[in-house]
Amino acid sequence: MEKKPTPFDAVIKQLNIVAEKLKLDPSMVEKLKSPRRVIIVSVPIRMDDGRIKVFTGYRVQHDMTRGPYKGGIRYHPSVDLDEMKALATWMSWKAAVVDIPYGGAKGGIACNPKEMSRGELERLTRRYTAMLLDEIGPYKDVPAPDVYTNAQTMAWIMDTYSEFKGYLVPEVVTGKPIEVGGSEGRHEATGRGVAICAREGAKHLGVNMKGLGVVVQGFGKVGKAAAKLLHQMGCKIIAVSDSKGGIYDPDGLDLATVLEHKEKTGQLRGLEGAKEITNEELLELECDILIPAALENQITEANASRIRARMIVEGANGPSTPGAREILTKRGVFIVPDILANAGGVTVSYFEWIQNLHREHWTEEEVNRRLEEKMVKAFRDVLETSKKYGVDMATAAYVLGVKRIVDASEKLGLFP
Ligand code: GLU
Repeated sequence: MEKKPTPFDAVIKQLNIVAEKLKLDPSMVEKLKSPRRVIIVSVPIRMDDGRIKVFTGYRVQHDMTRGPYKGGIRYHPSVDLDEMKALATWMSWKAAVVDIPYGGAKGGIACNPKEMSRGELERLTRRYTAMLLDEIGPYKDVPAPDVYTNAQTMAWIMDTYSEFKGYLVPEVVTGKPIEVGGSEGRHEATGRGVAICAREGAKHLGVNMKGLGVVVQGFGKVGKAAAKLLHQMGCKIIAVSDSKGGIYDPDGLDLATVLEHKEKTGQLRGLEGAKEITNEELLELECDILIPAALENQITEANASRIRARMIVEGANGPSTPGAREILTKRGVFIVPDILANAGGVTVSYFEWIQNLHREHWTEEEVNRRLEEKMVKAFRDVLETSKKYGVDMATAAYVLGVKRIVDASEKLGLFP
């Protein structure tokens, strides 16, 4: 059987296309493909039943040409080196697309946090942090939340790091709780960025947001915030899903009821009055805006021809494969790619880091105003790049991100 393409296979494909468009030197391409440093640690912790279990943890530091390494930490059974390398590379390009002074990194631990207690997760986080103590740091590598990690996870990282240093270092992580230096607006930032991109996309296509039907795959932090904000912009949320399945109502779901139901039962399924659908069915619903906000490889060559959305705004990292994007673009679907659409998170992470370094605390209005400015500028830059090179938005985002890294790299030169 042929091997299923992995996320890093997608990265290589994307990079080769960019190299051709920018006429990059093969040695530069080689450099861009290779992460600077890959760290793999075996993290032993004591489980609640007294046994010792060893988890594999990763931190991939892809590129630091434009600033310190930056990127989330993911706790998920699918975490492996290939996935970490892909996500780290996308972080480098993402930071460049929104023009913030960071390089890219990604970390994670292969585990199933849904089956672990709070105590086990805390011990896992602290031990992993201790093992990475020399690799992370405010000017070196600044972690943040990602899939199944949150503000609490960041507080444990900050506390562990600070204990070793002997003084409090809030700027070592972003996405922290407000009480310990977190930024206003960070929790919703990725979802807000997704909503802004959907709005800019609609504007570009010349359609009014009022009454547009939105489908959201993944009802985590990103999906929830995007749905809420798009609803406020006048859209109708017709379907949402979590890992267990989705719910659908062509007349529009009442978000407050959905949230309450999810809070109470831990799942979306079973909501009275809504039709239950699978995640596969949800992706194929007829809608105006489809927001995949779960994991990688959801829209592939296998289902791309059945997608009936006018516009796709990628809340997740790598939700559509390069092949799927090609099929969809040919069919006229407008795609706002991940490294642009979900860049709101790392943008407000950057604002949080600045606030920490200056021991300041900005208001939510200030944070949101700056985020709006950054996202709209990035959307326009990508759109302009797409016109200049005659390519789709995804390719344009890669061209823009990689070009900014290459330009900086050429100025710095090569050591020694
Ligand atoms: N994990 C998020 C992402 O993939 C945020 C990263 C950050 O804030 O550093 O963009």
